Amino acid sequence: MHKLFFKKKFDQYFLKDQNIAKKIVNHLSFENYNTVVEVGPGLGILTQYLLINPYHHVFFIEIDKQLISFLKKKFLISNNKIIHNDFLKWNPEEIKLHNFAIIGNFPYKISSQILFHILKYNQYIPECIGMFQKEVAKRITSHKGKKTYGILSVLIQTFYDAKYLFTVKKKVFFPVPNVESAVISLKRKNETIYCDKNVLFKCVKTAFNQRRKKLKNSLQLFKYVPNFNKIPFLNKRAEELSVKEFIQLTREIEIKLGNDYSIIERKFVSQRNKK
Ligand code: SAH
Repeated sequence: MHKLFFKKKFDQYFLKDQNIAKKIVNHLSFENYNTVVEVGPGLGILTQYLLINPYHHVFFIEIDKQLISFLKKKFLISNNKIIHNDFLKWNPEEIKLHNFAIIGNFPYKISSQILFHILKYNQYIPECIGMFQKEVAKRITSHKGKKTYGILSVLIQTFYDAKYLFTVKKKVFFPVPNVESAVISLKRKNETIYCDKNVLFKCVKTAFNQRRKKLKNSLQLFKYVPNFNKIPFLNKRAEELSVKEFIQLTREIEIKLGNDYSIIERKFVSQRNKK
C-alpha cells in the first residue's frame, strides 16, 4: 500500500480483509431502497462490492481529495456519484436523496457526530451498516441496566433497531489501530415515533448528564417536570429507564410545554453557560 494514502488527521485505518469487507456489504438488506451512500470509502475495499450490482445506485462521500482521484480512476465512478465533502456537513436534500442506506467503516474520532447526523436525517435513512470502535458499538446496542447504556443507546434505539453483528480484530487494518472494532446494523423502526426529536434529545441528555440522580431531581432543569401519576417512574435513574419510557416521558414534557419551546432552549443555554 502506498504511503501517500495514509493520513492520521482523517482517521484513516484501511481494512485489508476481503472476507470481512464482503460480509459487511452483504448485511445491506435492500428492503424498500436501492440507493446506498458510503461514508469514507478510503481505498475502496467496500466500494468494489457495492458496485457489483448494476441496479443499485451508490454514492460516496470522502473528505480526502487524494483518495477521491484515486477512487475515480480505480472504479471509473462518475463525478456526480463521488462527493468531496465532510459527511457531517453533507445534506442529502442537496442531491435529492430521500431514501438510502448508509454504509461505512467510519472514522472513529467522529463516531458520535456521524450518528447524530444520521438521526438528523433519519426520515431518509431506513438502514445503516457500519463499523465503529467496539466500545461505541457496544454503547449503541446496549440496554437499560447496563453500564454501557447511555445517551447514544436511547437516541438511536428510539428510531432504529440496533444490532451488534460481529467484532473485528485490530490486525485486519492498516495501520493497526489501538482499539478493536465492531460492525453493527441499524434498521429503522416501522412504527411512527410520536415525540419531538428536539425535546427527546434534550430530555435524554439532561437525564444522563446526572445519571446517578433520580429523574425527579435531574429533570428539575425543565420548568415542567411531569406529574407522578402520569409518569410513575420519576423515582428511577436514567440508566434504569427503557427507550419506551423515555419516549413516554418526552411526550409528557411536550404536553406540559405546549408551544413554549423557548423554555427548553433557554434552560439549555443557561446549563451550557454554567459548565
Ligand atoms: N472504508 C475504508 C476507509 C476507512 S478509514 C476502509 O474500510 O478501508 C475512514 C475513511 O473516512 C477515510 O477514507 C477518511 O479519509 C474518511 N473520512 C474521515 N473523515 C471524514 C469525514 N468527515 N467525511 C467523510 N469521510 C471522512
